[in-house]
Amino acid sequence: MDIAQFPRILLARLPTPIEPLPRLSAHLDGPKLYVKRDDLTGLGLGGNKLRKLEFLLGEARAQDAEVVLTVGALQSNHARLTAAACARLGLDCELILRRGSHASEAYLHSGNLLLDRLFGARLHELQAQESREERMAVRAEILRAEGQRPYCIPVGGSCGLGNLGYVACANEILLQSDEMNVRFDAVVVTTGSGGTQGGLVAGMKLADGVPVIGIAVEGTRTEQEVLAAGQAAEALRLLGQEETDIESTVEVLDEFVGPGYARPSESMREALSMAARFEGLVLDPVYTGKAFAGFIALARSGRYGKDQSLLFVHTGGTPGLFGYPESV
Ligand SMILES: *Cc1c(COP(=O)(O)O)cnc(C)c1O
Repeated sequence: MDIAQFPRILLARLPTPIEPLPRLSAHLDGPKLYVKRDDLTGLGLGGNKLRKLEFLLGEARAQDAEVVLTVGALQSNHARLTAAACARLGLDCELILRRGSHASEAYLHSGNLLLDRLFGARLHELQAQESREERMAVRAEILRAEGQRPYCIPVGGSCGLGNLGYVACANEILLQSDEMNVRFDAVVVTTGSGGTQGGLVAGMKLADGVPVIGIAVEGTRTEQEVLAAGQAAEALRLLGQEETDIESTVEVLDEFVGPGYARPSESMREALSMAARFEGLVLDPVYTGKAFAGFIALARSGRYGKDQSLLFVHTGGTPGLFGYPESV
């Protein structure tokens, strides 16, 4: 099945630009560095989840859903963009959010959470040991009993259908690469729930494209590789493609997780500072800051020569800066 046959609601401003990072490239004196600005997808302050939501909410609308549910951390970018997209489409939105170990005023009231409230989402706080998926299923059942039609989105919007957004993004990158006459030797992206990397891997596989390297922000290398490969396989299955040996094309680096999910690390702080001071580029402390630390490390590693080019996919998360000001 062709990707164009899936119901889709246009939410993101596409294609997002690819920009060179000349001052940072010169400073690191390694491969030529570029950034794909998926932080500039537009709606609700932008980010990677809008590409997934185009397909997920396409299905929700095809099913005549009236209320959309999803789950995440208290400062989830995915939850914020789901709330924004629902506002745009006139759908009710309910977010089931788990509070992490952070307890600052900013974490509890600013950043993404401030925006969730502004977009009019209904918030549910998850207890520490509760399963988010079970809680979402229970809430959906209650809504159904009240005569409503709920649509549930898994964490991060990662599932075969959501990942199609990043299958399409892989094609977008290859097209831009042709237009710019730059061949990227690798695409580097943050990996969390795995759908963004999985979709890119699937898209690159179908198009005979370039390698994708995921930089983990949680979990171990093996765990995250299994996750991303599973997400790639789900997208390929939806498209009716054989999934032969997708695992061998999935690479994840886990050296940049630091002390754990949403916990600051020195290399994250360095990456935030370098992106800002050399390029005026804003990253976030939870996702893109850690991934950019991996990107800088790859540029410094000697694995790529000066005549080679690396592309960092900036997945957004900017409001997270204001939810974790102490991390910067
Ligand atoms: C969700 C998110 C990611 C990770 O994407 P996954 O598809 O969950 O792996 C990366 N960056 C930002 C800013 C995000 O919000």
